[in-house]
Amino acid sequence: MATTSFTAPKLSSPTFQTLCRNLPLSLPIPKALSSFSFHLSPFLSRFHLHHHPRRLFAVRAESENGGEPLRHYDFDLFTIGAGSGGVRASRFAANFGASVAVCELPFSTISSETTGGVGGTCVLRGCVPKKLMVYASKYSHEFDESNGFGWKYDTEPKHDWSTLMANKNAELQRLTGIYKNILNKAGVTLIEGRGKIVDPHTVDVDGKLYTARHILISVGGRPFILDIPGSEYAIDSDAALDLPSKPEKVAIVGGGYIALEFAGIFNGLTTEVHVFIRQKKVLRGFDEEIRDFVGEQMALRGIQFHTEESPQAIVKSADGSLSLKTNKGTIEGFSHIMFATGRRPNTKNLGLESVGVKINKNGAIEVDEYSRTTVPSIWAVGDVTDRINLTPVALMEGAALAKTLFQNEPTKPDYR
Ligand code: FAD
Repeated sequence: MATTSFTAPKLSSPTFQTLCRNLPLSLPIPKALSSFSFHLSPFLSRFHLHHHPRRLFAVRAESENGGEPLRHYDFDLFTIGAGSGGVRASRFAANFGASVAVCELPFSTISSETTGGVGGTCVLRGCVPKKLMVYASKYSHEFDESNGFGWKYDTEPKHDWSTLMANKNAELQRLTGIYKNILNKAGVTLIEGRGKIVDPHTVDVDGKLYTARHILISVGGRPFILDIPGSEYAIDSDAALDLPSKPEKVAIVGGGYIALEFAGIFNGLTTEVHVFIRQKKVLRGFDEEIRDFVGEQMALRGIQFHTEESPQAIVKSADGSLSLKTNKGTIEGFSHIMFATGRRPNTKNLGLESVGVKINKNGAIEVDEYSRTTVPSIWAVGDVTDRINLTPVALMEGAALAKTLFQNEPTKPDYR
Protein backbone atom coordinates (compact mmCIF):
# COMPACT_ATOMS: atom_id res chain seq x y z
CA MET A 1 0.00 0.00 0.00
CA ALA A 2 1.53 3.26 -1.07
CA THR A 3 1.85 5.98 1.49
CA THR A 4 -0.27 9.04 0.87
CA SER A 5 2.23 11.79 0.34
CA PHE A 6 1.71 15.01 2.19
CA THR A 7 0.73 18.16 0.38
CA ALA A 8 -0.38 21.09 2.47
CA PRO A 9 -4.02 21.60 1.54
CA LYS A 10 -6.06 24.64 2.45
CA LEU A 11 -8.06 23.90 5.57
CA SER A 12 -11.16 25.60 4.29
CA SER A 13 -13.73 24.12 6.65
CA PRO A 14 -13.99 26.11 9.88
CA THR A 15 -15.57 23.07 11.53
CA PHE A 16 -12.62 20.92 10.60
CA GLN A 17 -10.21 23.56 11.83
CA THR A 18 -12.05 23.83 15.13
CA LEU A 19 -11.91 20.08 15.58
CA CYS A 20 -8.24 20.06 14.76
CA ARG A 21 -7.50 22.84 17.21
CA ASN A 22 -9.24 20.84 19.89
CA LEU A 23 -7.07 17.81 19.29
CA PRO A 24 -5.43 15.99 20.89
CA LEU A 25 -7.27 16.60 24.15
CA SER A 26 -5.83 13.42 25.57
CA LEU A 27 -2.31 14.78 25.34
CA PRO A 28 -2.07 17.66 27.76
CA ILE A 29 1.14 19.62 28.02
CA PRO A 30 1.97 20.07 31.67
CA LYS A 31 3.39 23.37 32.77
CA ALA A 32 7.15 23.51 32.65
CA LEU A 33 8.56 22.96 36.06
CA SER A 34 9.74 26.36 37.10
CA SER A 35 11.52 25.23 40.19
CA PHE A 36 12.26 21.95 41.80
CA SER A 37 14.46 20.65 44.51
CA PHE A 38 17.10 18.17 43.66
CA HIS A 39 17.82 15.09 45.71
CA LEU A 40 19.90 12.08 44.83
CA SER A 41 17.68 9.29 43.53
CA PRO A 42 18.46 5.77 44.71
CA PHE A 43 19.22 5.00 41.09
CA LEU A 44 21.73 7.84 40.86
CA SER A 45 23.46 7.55 44.17
CA ARG A 46 26.82 6.86 42.56
CA PHE A 47 26.73 9.96 40.37
CA HIS A 48 29.27 12.73 40.62
CA LEU A 49 27.12 15.76 39.97
CA HIS A 50 28.01 19.00 38.44
CA HIS A 51 25.39 21.66 38.97
CA HIS A 52 24.23 23.72 36.03
CA PRO A 53 21.19 25.98 35.97
CA ARG A 54 19.45 23.82 33.34
CA ARG A 55 21.29 20.56 33.32
CA LEU A 56 21.55 19.15 36.78
CA PHE A 57 22.96 15.96 35.33
CA ALA A 58 25.11 17.58 32.67
CA VAL A 59 28.33 15.97 33.72
CA ARG A 60 27.83 12.33 34.34
CA ALA A 61 30.50 10.12 35.70
CA GLU A 62 30.64 7.03 37.79
CA SER A 63 33.07 4.61 39.25
CA GLU A 64 31.51 1.23 38.48
CA ASN A 65 33.42 -0.76 41.08
CA GLY A 66 35.61 1.48 43.15
CA GLY A 67 38.89 1.07 41.28
CA GLU A 68 37.48 1.48 37.76
CA PRO A 69 38.06 4.77 35.96
CA LEU A 70 35.18 7.27 35.93
CA ARG A 71 32.73 6.74 33.11
CA HIS A 72 31.24 9.67 31.19
CA TYR A 73 28.07 9.46 29.17
CA ASP A 74 26.74 11.62 26.35
CA PHE A 75 23.31 11.74 28.00
CA ASP A 76 21.60 10.86 31.28
CA LEU A 77 18.76 9.29 29.34
CA PHE A 78 18.59 8.03 25.77
CA THR A 79 15.06 7.20 24.63
CA ILE A 80 14.38 4.99 21.63
CA GLY A 81 10.98 5.91 20.14
CA ALA A 82 9.20 9.28 20.37
CA GLY A 83 5.62 8.09 20.78
CA SER A 84 3.32 8.71 23.74
CA GLY A 85 5.49 7.06 26.40
CA GLY A 86 8.87 8.13 25.01
CA VAL A 87 7.98 11.80 24.57
CA ARG A 88 6.40 12.01 28.03
CA ALA A 89 9.34 10.31 29.79
CA SER A 90 11.93 12.36 27.86
CA ARG A 91 10.23 15.70 28.44
CA PHE A 92 9.66 15.09 32.13
CA ALA A 93 13.23 13.84 32.58
CA ALA A 94 14.56 16.98 30.87
CA ASN A 95 12.31 19.16 33.02
CA PHE A 96 13.77 17.42 36.06
CA GLY A 97 17.22 18.48 34.89
CA ALA A 98 18.48 15.42 33.05
CA SER A 99 20.21 15.67 29.69
CA VAL A 100 18.07 13.66 27.32
CA ALA A 101 18.16 12.48 23.72
CA VAL A 102 15.43 10.66 21.84
CA CYS A 103 15.66 8.96 18.48
CA GLU A 104 12.70 8.43 16.18
CA LEU A 105 12.21 7.07 12.66
CA PRO A 106 11.38 9.45 9.79
CA PHE A 107 7.71 10.43 9.37
CA SER A 108 5.26 8.36 7.39
CA THR A 109 1.55 7.71 7.71
CA ILE A 110 2.35 3.98 7.41
CA SER A 111 4.73 2.51 10.00
CA SER A 112 7.48 0.11 9.05
CA GLU A 113 10.96 -1.01 10.14
CA THR A 114 12.26 2.26 8.73
CA THR A 115 9.38 4.73 9.10
CA GLY A 116 7.46 6.17 12.04
CA GLY A 117 7.44 9.80 13.11
CA VAL A 118 7.55 11.97 16.23
CA GLY A 119 4.22 11.58 18.05
CA GLY A 120 3.99 7.83 17.55
CA THR A 121 0.99 5.61 16.92
CA CYS A 122 -1.64 7.58 18.83
CA VAL A 123 -0.94 10.84 17.08
CA LEU A 124 -0.13 9.58 13.58
CA ARG A 125 -1.79 6.18 13.12
CA GLY A 126 -4.17 5.71 16.05
CA CYS A 127 -6.35 7.82 18.33
CA VAL A 128 -6.08 11.12 16.45
CA PRO A 129 -6.54 10.19 12.77
CA LYS A 130 -9.14 7.66 13.84
CA LYS A 131 -11.08 10.34 15.66
CA LEU A 132 -10.97 12.63 12.63
CA MET A 133 -12.38 9.77 10.55
CA VAL A 134 -15.08 9.18 13.16
CA TYR A 135 -16.08 12.84 12.94
CA ALA A 136 -16.18 12.60 9.14
CA SER A 137 -18.35 9.48 9.32
CA LYS A 138 -20.95 10.92 11.69
CA TYR A 139 -22.35 13.45 9.22
CA SER A 140 -24.11 10.89 7.03
CA HIS A 141 -26.23 9.69 9.96
CA GLU A 142 -27.04 13.27 10.84
CA PHE A 143 -28.05 14.14 7.28
CA ASP A 144 -30.44 11.15 7.39
CA GLU A 145 -31.89 12.07 10.75
CA SER A 146 -32.24 15.73 9.85
CA ASN A 147 -34.92 14.91 7.25
CA GLY A 148 -37.32 14.00 10.06
CA PHE A 149 -36.68 17.42 11.57
CA GLY A 150 -37.64 19.18 8.39
CA TRP A 151 -34.29 19.53 6.65
CA LYS A 152 -34.44 19.08 2.91
CA TYR A 153 -31.52 18.91 0.50
CA ASP A 154 -31.86 19.71 -3.18
CA THR A 155 -29.18 17.14 -3.93
CA GLU A 156 -27.83 14.33 -1.79
CA PRO A 157 -24.72 15.46 0.17
CA LYS A 158 -21.61 13.95 -1.40
CA HIS A 159 -18.41 13.05 0.36
CA ASP A 160 -15.02 13.86 -1.16
CA TRP A 161 -12.51 11.30 0.11
CA SER A 162 -9.42 13.13 -1.12
CA THR A 163 -10.36 16.28 0.85
CA LEU A 164 -10.69 14.23 4.02
CA MET A 165 -7.33 12.49 3.49
CA ALA A 166 -5.50 15.71 2.58
CA ASN A 167 -6.85 17.58 5.62
CA LYS A 168 -6.21 14.61 7.90
CA ASN A 169 -2.60 14.41 6.71
CA ALA A 170 -2.14 18.17 7.10
CA GLU A 171 -3.31 17.77 10.68
CA LEU A 172 -0.82 14.95 11.28
CA GLN A 173 1.97 17.18 9.98
CA ARG A 174 0.84 19.93 12.34
CA LEU A 175 0.80 17.56 15.30
CA THR A 176 4.17 15.96 14.59
CA GLY A 177 5.55 19.51 14.41
CA ILE A 178 4.01 20.33 17.78
CA TYR A 179 5.58 17.24 19.31
CA LYS A 180 8.99 18.19 17.94
CA ASN A 181 8.49 21.63 19.44
CA ILE A 182 7.57 20.21 22.82
CA LEU A 183 10.79 18.20 22.86
CA ASN A 184 12.83 21.13 21.65
CA LYS A 185 11.40 23.49 24.27
CA ALA A 186 12.15 20.96 27.00
CA GLY A 187 15.78 20.82 25.80
CA VAL A 188 15.57 17.24 24.56
CA THR A 189 17.92 16.40 21.67
CA LEU A 190 15.94 14.80 18.84
CA ILE A 191 17.84 12.45 16.56
CA GLU A 192 16.17 11.11 13.42
CA GLY A 193 16.96 7.48 12.74
CA ARG A 194 16.58 3.91 13.89
CA GLY A 195 17.88 3.12 17.35
CA LYS A 196 19.49 -0.18 18.24
CA ILE A 197 21.05 -1.13 21.54
CA VAL A 198 24.73 -2.02 21.36
CA ASP A 199 25.54 -2.48 25.04
CA PRO A 200 23.84 -1.56 28.36
CA HIS A 201 24.87 2.09 27.94
CA THR A 202 25.18 2.54 24.16
CA VAL A 203 22.66 3.10 21.39
CA ASP A 204 23.49 3.00 17.69
CA VAL A 205 21.40 5.33 15.53
CA ASP A 206 22.05 4.58 11.89
CA GLY A 207 25.75 4.01 12.53
CA LYS A 208 26.37 6.77 15.06
CA LEU A 209 26.96 5.74 18.68
CA TYR A 210 25.53 7.54 21.73
CA THR A 211 26.20 6.63 25.35
CA ALA A 212 23.76 7.14 28.19
CA ARG A 213 23.52 6.29 31.85
CA HIS A 214 19.96 5.06 31.26
CA ILE A 215 18.33 3.78 28.09
CA LEU A 216 14.55 3.83 27.66
CA ILE A 217 12.88 1.60 25.12
CA SER A 218 9.50 3.01 24.08
CA VAL A 219 9.19 1.66 20.56
CA GLY A 220 5.51 0.67 20.81
CA GLY A 221 3.98 -1.96 18.56
CA ARG A 222 2.85 -2.56 14.99
CA PRO A 223 -0.29 -4.12 13.52
CA PHE A 224 -0.24 -7.86 13.12
CA ILE A 225 -1.80 -9.61 10.12
CA LEU A 226 -2.64 -13.32 10.39
CA ASP A 227 -0.46 -15.47 8.21
CA ILE A 228 -3.02 -17.10 5.89
CA PRO A 229 -2.83 -17.69 2.13
CA GLY A 230 -3.43 -14.36 0.37
CA SER A 231 -2.67 -12.25 3.48
CA GLU A 232 -0.55 -10.00 1.25
CA TYR A 233 -3.85 -8.59 -0.11
CA ALA A 234 -5.04 -7.57 3.37
CA ILE A 235 -4.59 -4.11 4.88
CA ASP A 236 -3.96 -3.15 8.50
CA SER A 237 -5.12 -0.14 10.54
CA ASP A 238 -2.21 2.04 9.32
CA ALA A 239 -3.29 1.57 5.71
CA ALA A 240 -7.01 1.80 6.54
CA LEU A 241 -6.43 5.31 7.88
CA ASP A 242 -4.69 6.37 4.69
CA LEU A 243 -6.55 4.82 1.76
CA PRO A 244 -6.27 6.68 -1.55
CA SER A 245 -9.99 6.13 -2.25
CA LYS A 246 -13.09 5.15 -0.34
CA PRO A 247 -13.57 1.39 -0.01
CA GLU A 248 -16.78 0.21 -1.66
CA LYS A 249 -17.14 -3.03 0.30
CA VAL A 250 -14.86 -3.90 3.20
CA ALA A 251 -14.36 -7.04 5.29
CA ILE A 252 -13.01 -6.34 8.76
CA VAL A 253 -11.52 -9.30 10.55
CA GLY A 254 -11.56 -8.93 14.34
CA GLY A 255 -14.06 -7.95 17.02
CA GLY A 256 -11.99 -5.70 19.28
CA TYR A 257 -12.44 -1.96 19.74
CA ILE A 258 -10.22 -1.00 16.81
CA ALA A 259 -12.11 -3.33 14.43
CA LEU A 260 -15.45 -1.91 15.53
CA GLU A 261 -14.33 1.69 15.32
CA PHE A 262 -13.28 1.14 11.72
CA ALA A 263 -16.55 -0.66 11.00
CA GLY A 264 -18.40 2.41 12.28
CA ILE A 265 -16.19 4.78 10.31
CA PHE A 266 -16.61 2.99 6.99
CA ASN A 267 -20.33 2.44 7.58
CA GLY A 268 -20.81 6.16 8.18
CA LEU A 269 -18.87 6.92 5.03
CA THR A 270 -21.36 4.67 3.15
CA THR A 271 -19.11 1.66 2.56
CA GLU A 272 -20.71 -1.80 2.78
CA VAL A 273 -19.16 -3.31 5.91
CA HIS A 274 -18.84 -6.96 6.98
CA VAL A 275 -17.23 -7.85 10.31
CA PHE A 276 -15.86 -11.35 10.89
CA ILE A 277 -15.38 -12.44 14.50
CA ARG A 278 -14.28 -15.75 15.98
CA GLN A 279 -16.55 -15.36 19.02
CA LYS A 280 -20.34 -15.17 19.30
CA LYS A 281 -20.13 -11.51 20.35
CA VAL A 282 -17.95 -8.47 19.75
CA LEU A 283 -15.60 -6.79 22.27
CA ARG A 284 -14.31 -9.79 24.21
CA GLY A 285 -13.36 -8.75 27.73
CA PHE A 286 -15.80 -5.83 27.86
CA ASP A 287 -18.92 -5.66 30.03
CA GLU A 288 -21.52 -8.15 28.71
CA GLU A 289 -24.30 -5.57 28.35
CA ILE A 290 -22.00 -3.33 26.37
CA ARG A 291 -21.06 -6.23 24.11
CA ASP A 292 -24.71 -6.93 23.35
CA PHE A 293 -25.74 -3.31 22.96
CA VAL A 294 -22.87 -2.28 20.69
CA GLY A 295 -23.37 -5.34 18.46
CA GLU A 296 -27.12 -4.71 18.16
CA GLN A 297 -26.79 -1.00 17.45
CA MET A 298 -24.11 -1.51 14.83
CA ALA A 299 -26.19 -4.18 13.11
CA LEU A 300 -29.14 -1.74 13.05
CA ARG A 301 -26.94 0.68 11.12
CA GLY A 302 -26.39 -1.94 8.47
CA ILE A 303 -23.06 -3.50 9.51
CA GLN A 304 -23.14 -7.22 8.79
CA PHE A 305 -21.65 -9.43 11.47
CA HIS A 306 -20.34 -12.90 10.67
CA THR A 307 -19.94 -14.57 14.05
CA GLU A 308 -17.84 -17.63 14.87
CA GLU A 309 -16.09 -17.28 11.52
CA SER A 310 -12.33 -17.48 11.22
CA PRO A 311 -10.55 -16.38 8.06
CA GLN A 312 -8.73 -19.11 6.14
CA ALA A 313 -7.66 -17.51 2.88
CA ILE A 314 -7.96 -14.43 0.69
CA VAL A 315 -8.28 -14.84 -3.05
CA LYS A 316 -7.86 -12.05 -5.58
CA SER A 317 -10.01 -12.24 -8.71
CA ALA A 318 -9.02 -11.13 -12.20
CA ASP A 319 -11.13 -7.95 -11.76
CA GLY A 320 -9.12 -7.08 -8.62
CA SER A 321 -11.90 -7.83 -6.14
CA LEU A 322 -11.14 -9.95 -3.08
CA SER A 323 -12.90 -13.01 -1.62
CA LEU A 324 -12.61 -14.07 2.01
CA LYS A 325 -12.77 -17.78 2.68
CA THR A 326 -13.70 -18.72 6.25
CA ASN A 327 -14.56 -21.93 8.11
CA LYS A 328 -18.21 -21.33 7.09
CA GLY A 329 -17.92 -20.36 3.43
CA THR A 330 -16.66 -17.70 1.03
CA ILE A 331 -17.85 -14.12 0.61
CA GLU A 332 -16.87 -12.37 -2.59
CA GLY A 333 -16.62 -8.88 -3.96
CA PHE A 334 -14.62 -7.00 -1.34
CA SER A 335 -12.63 -3.97 -2.41
CA HIS A 336 -10.61 -4.23 0.84
CA ILE A 337 -10.04 -6.81 3.56
CA MET A 338 -8.76 -5.27 6.78
CA PHE A 339 -7.20 -7.25 9.60
CA ALA A 340 -7.67 -5.76 13.06
CA THR A 341 -6.33 -8.83 14.76
CA GLY A 342 -4.02 -7.27 17.30
CA ARG A 343 -0.61 -5.67 17.48
CA ARG A 344 2.85 -7.00 18.27
CA PRO A 345 5.61 -5.23 20.21
CA ASN A 346 8.31 -3.67 18.03
CA THR A 347 11.15 -5.66 19.57
CA LYS A 348 12.70 -7.20 16.47
CA ASN A 349 16.18 -6.13 15.49
CA LEU A 350 16.67 -3.84 18.50
CA GLY A 351 19.72 -5.65 19.86
CA LEU A 352 17.79 -6.85 22.92
CA GLU A 353 18.86 -10.48 22.94
CA SER A 354 22.57 -9.68 22.61
CA VAL A 355 22.50 -7.27 25.54
CA GLY A 356 20.40 -9.54 27.79
CA VAL A 357 17.01 -7.77 27.81
CA LYS A 358 14.43 -10.52 28.29
CA ILE A 359 11.34 -10.62 26.12
CA ASN A 360 8.30 -12.89 26.57
CA LYS A 361 6.83 -15.30 24.02
CA ASN A 362 4.76 -12.51 22.42
CA GLY A 363 7.86 -10.38 21.92
CA ALA A 364 7.01 -7.93 24.74
CA ILE A 365 9.82 -6.66 26.97
CA GLU A 366 9.65 -8.01 30.53
CA VAL A 367 9.87 -5.27 33.14
CA ASP A 368 9.62 -5.05 36.92
CA GLU A 369 7.13 -2.86 38.73
CA TYR A 370 9.32 0.22 38.07
CA SER A 371 9.53 -0.52 34.30
CA ARG A 372 13.10 -1.79 34.63
CA THR A 373 14.16 -4.56 32.23
CA THR A 374 16.45 -7.46 33.08
CA VAL A 375 19.39 -5.12 32.33
CA PRO A 376 19.64 -2.58 35.20
CA SER A 377 20.40 0.46 33.02
CA ILE A 378 17.67 -0.30 30.46
CA TRP A 379 14.00 0.56 31.00
CA ALA A 380 10.84 0.13 28.93
CA VAL A 381 7.40 1.76 28.90
CA GLY A 382 4.28 1.69 26.75
CA ASP A 383 2.97 -0.87 24.29
CA VAL A 384 6.36 -2.53 23.92
CA THR A 385 5.83 -3.96 27.42
CA ASP A 386 2.28 -5.13 26.54
CA ARG A 387 0.81 -4.17 29.91
CA ILE A 388 -2.26 -2.05 29.07
CA ASN A 389 -1.92 -0.77 25.53
CA LEU A 390 -3.48 2.68 25.66
CA THR A 391 -2.07 6.17 25.35
CA PRO A 392 -2.89 7.46 28.84
CA VAL A 393 -1.17 4.36 30.22
CA ALA A 394 2.00 4.93 28.17
CA LEU A 395 2.00 8.58 29.30
CA MET A 396 1.57 7.59 32.94
CA GLU A 397 4.31 4.94 32.72
CA GLY A 398 6.66 7.46 31.08
CA ALA A 399 5.97 10.08 33.75
CA ALA A 400 6.46 7.54 36.55
CA LEU A 401 9.81 6.52 35.08
CA ALA A 402 11.07 10.09 34.83
CA LYS A 403 10.22 10.61 38.51
CA THR A 404 11.91 7.35 39.46
CA LEU A 405 15.11 8.17 37.61
CA PHE A 406 15.46 11.92 37.99
CA GLN A 407 13.34 13.17 40.85
CA ASN A 408 14.37 10.91 43.71
CA GLU A 409 10.87 9.53 43.75
CA PRO A 410 10.75 5.82 42.90
CA THR A 411 7.28 5.62 41.34
CA LYS A 412 5.42 2.52 40.24
CA PRO A 413 2.96 2.96 37.39
CA ASP A 414 -0.54 3.16 38.88
CA TYR A 415 -3.09 1.41 36.68
CA ARG A 416 -6.11 2.35 38.74
P1 FAD B 1 4.00 4.42 20.10
O1 FAD B 1 3.10 5.56 20.24
O2 FAD B 1 3.68 3.38 19.10
O3 FAD B 1 5.45 5.02 19.81
C1 FAD B 1 6.53 4.22 19.50
C2 FAD B 1 7.45 5.01 18.59
O4 FAD B 1 8.70 4.34 18.48
C3 FAD B 1 6.92 5.14 17.17
O5 FAD B 1 6.86 6.50 16.80
C4 FAD B 1 7.92 4.36 16.31
O6 FAD B 1 8.11 4.95 15.03
C5 FAD B 1 9.17 4.49 17.15
N1 FAD B 1 10.15 3.43 16.91
C6 FAD B 1 9.94 2.10 16.79
N2 FAD B 1 11.10 1.46 16.66
C7 FAD B 1 12.08 2.41 16.68
C8 FAD B 1 13.49 2.35 16.60
N3 FAD B 1 14.15 1.18 16.50
N4 FAD B 1 14.18 3.52 16.64
C9 FAD B 1 13.53 4.71 16.77
N5 FAD B 1 12.20 4.81 16.87
C10 FAD B 1 11.48 3.67 16.84
N6 FAD B 1 -5.14 4.41 22.70
C11 FAD B 1 -5.99 5.16 23.44
O7 FAD B 1 -5.70 5.41 24.60
N7 FAD B 1 -7.16 5.65 22.91
C12 FAD B 1 -7.51 5.40 21.63
O8 FAD B 1 -8.57 5.85 21.17
C13 FAD B 1 -6.65 4.61 20.83
N8 FAD B 1 -6.95 4.36 19.54
C14 FAD B 1 -6.09 3.63 18.78
C15 FAD B 1 -6.42 3.36 17.46
C16 FAD B 1 -5.58 2.64 16.66
C17 FAD B 1 -5.95 2.38 15.22
C18 FAD B 1 -4.35 2.14 17.18
C19 FAD B 1 -3.42 1.35 16.32
C20 FAD B 1 -4.00 2.39 18.50
C21 FAD B 1 -4.87 3.13 19.32
N9 FAD B 1 -4.57 3.39 20.64
C22 FAD B 1 -5.45 4.13 21.42
C23 FAD B 1 -3.36 2.84 21.29
C24 FAD B 1 -2.26 3.89 21.38
O9 FAD B 1 -2.00 4.42 20.10
C25 FAD B 1 -1.00 3.25 21.95
O10 FAD B 1 -1.32 2.58 23.14
C26 FAD B 1 0.08 4.27 22.23
O11 FAD B 1 0.43 4.98 21.07
C27 FAD B 1 1.33 3.58 22.79
O12 FAD B 1 2.36 4.51 22.98
P2 FAD B 1 3.88 4.01 22.97
O13 FAD B 1 4.69 5.19 23.38
O14 FAD B 1 4.04 2.77 23.73
O15 FAD B 1 4.21 3.63 21.46
